[in-house]
Amino acid sequence: MKKIVVLTGAGISAESGISTFRDADGLWEKYRVEDVATHEAYERNPAMVLDFYNQKRRQLFSAQPNEAHRQLVRLEERYEVVIVTQNIDNLHERAGSSHVLHLHGELTKARSDVNPDLIIEIGNRDIHMGDLAPDGTQLRPHIVWFGEAVPNIEPAAAICSNADILIVIGTSLAVYPAAGLISYVPPQADCYVVDPKEVPTRRKVTFLRDVATRGVAKLVNQLMQ
Ligand code: NAD
Repeated sequence: MKKIVVLTGAGISAESGISTFRDADGLWEKYRVEDVATHEAYERNPAMVLDFYNQKRRQLFSAQPNEAHRQLVRLEERYEVVIVTQNIDNLHERAGSSHVLHLHGELTKARSDVNPDLIIEIGNRDIHMGDLAPDGTQLRPHIVWFGEAVPNIEPAAAICSNADILIVIGTSLAVYPAAGLISYVPPQADCYVVDPKEVPTRRKVTFLRDVATRGVAKLVNQLMQ
């Protein structure tokens, strides 16, 4: 079976009603990144940071996977598919994708503030000040904040280096090291990008300039023929 690696970003979840990072229409717009997505911000005002992610988690549980998430599941009938996502939502899993690697953490998990490997499932529950991890430290969201290491980048790079086909969906490719994963994909692999806006890539790609629901449906139909 040929191997497909799908690299997704906030844009694939936009049509599920989850706002992207840079498109000026959502939750992120009301906050400065430095106030909610760095460890310094958390040290300064943990309650505010917890509240921000509690709001994102509630938004996630009122959202549903869209046609783009669902179409990617179809690819598993013909290909070995691994989704490498920058998203912290669980819409790929809820759509039914079997192999999803999260680069930037998951809203449905929390962790110890001192031991990044001490992770617990919280589902749709809020995290409050005073909620403790098993090691007695304050629970924090299992999110990779700006400036923190990305533990899944190495497995992701290994997955990319075995790809026969790469599909990039809804990411501005502005956040590193995630954006650098494309350079691990073998030069002979076919690459497709689905995004309504121009995305700069340093390699030859087939560009489907469309929203994810339409663009991914079109591409999956083509790949399933
Ligand atoms: P980004 O906001 O930088 O880029 C979003 C991209 O999606 C843009 O290129 C935009 O043109 C495109 N887009 C917008 N609407 C689309 C649609 N309907 N269909 C397809 N594409 C569409 O997002 P990023 O590159 O993922 O990087 C932002 C960071 O923010 C990531 O690290 C991610 O962890 C985080 N984030 C995650 C979520 C989520 O989990 N759903 C949401 C917002 C931000």
